[in-house]
Amino acid sequence: MARAATALIDLDALRHNLQRVREAAPGRHVMAIIKANGYGHGMVRVARAMANADAFGVASIDEAIVLREAGIETPITLLEGFFEAQELALIQHHRLGVVIHQAAQLDILEAHPLSAPIPTWLKIDSGMHRLGFAPEQAQDAWRRLKACRWVADPVRLMTHLASADDRHSLQTLHQLECFSAAIAGIEGERGIANSAGILGWPQTHADWVRPGIMLYGVSPFIDSVAVDDGLKPVMTLTSKLISVNRFKKGDAIGYAASWVCPLDMPVGVVAIGYGDGYPRHAAPGTPVLLNGKRVPLIGRVSMDMITVDLSSQPNAQIGDPVTLWGQGLPVEEVAHCASTIPYQLLCGVTQRVRMVESGERV
Ligand SMILES: *Cc1c(COP(=O)(O)O)cnc(C)c1O
Repeated sequence: MARAATALIDLDALRHNLQRVREAAPGRHVMAIIKANGYGHGMVRVARAMANADAFGVASIDEAIVLREAGIETPITLLEGFFEAQELALIQHHRLGVVIHQAAQLDILEAHPLSAPIPTWLKIDSGMHRLGFAPEQAQDAWRRLKACRWVADPVRLMTHLASADDRHSLQTLHQLECFSAAIAGIEGERGIANSAGILGWPQTHADWVRPGIMLYGVSPFIDSVAVDDGLKPVMTLTSKLISVNRFKKGDAIGYAASWVCPLDMPVGVVAIGYGDGYPRHAAPGTPVLLNGKRVPLIGRVSMDMITVDLSSQPNAQIGDPVTLWGQGLPVEEVAHCASTIPYQLLCGVTQRVRMVESGERV
């Protein structure tokens, strides 16, 4: 039998979550963010399932070209724009939009006349301090874009929120004020909200919203899980029990003998490990669903396997189904146990994990 590690992708859940975006931010345009291989779910697959999004956002031209070559006709925006002049011809050829966030990009644009206007977002740094023009440079950057005949008119305006996942942080309000002041008097559609902005900060909805993580059925907030926000998990990572053993009190389990049996107990081995994208830093006690019920992870996560405490399911058998996260076990909780965020777990599922769309035969 093939290796059991399988990621089930529920495209109905994805469509449900897109609908949640539309309910939470009614009447707004939706740029669905599908960078990093659709947050690990398969970029072309999620793009096809969300054909009714108003646009897609990706990180780079390579991702955009994969979408165009798969026949996706929806507008696509490169969230970091272009990195060098050679990309402009491809951007034009594939009808891509760009984010312009720094003067070096303006210099390149001005020096390379194009045959048709490209849709453009001007990005302002309102406090995230990663990409974007400083607020006091915004008006000048906008004038330069406007003067460029091959930049589509009107230029759209965007910024990105740094702390919207914390419903109590004041930074979001400061960023809103800073953004409005920087672009005062400029015409053009505005876009601010990521998933946390969409669900938690209605004042950030503006003209366009840019949902990412919520589309995949994960709460964007530090203190909630998907169901609290009416979202359904899209990816369920599953595998199987491949061995059951009994050990004595005092026996050590796994690498570095870091976990020692407190009693005589049954221990199960599951075919999943960091080679599949299961986090190596998942702590003992991290929940794993076996036959639909929780059992705790014990010992170190290895490349191909993990070990679980079967004391609560002494009759568990080789071949029994296991869920690592997804339906029945929030990825938010597993991420927390591994001192990371759900984004990293979803993006990190590796090539050797089979991806199966729901409805397909498993
Ligand atoms: C990734 C990204 C998003 C989506 O963020 P989520 O937290 O996943 O909703 C939105 N805007 C920009 C610019 C991004 O890079």
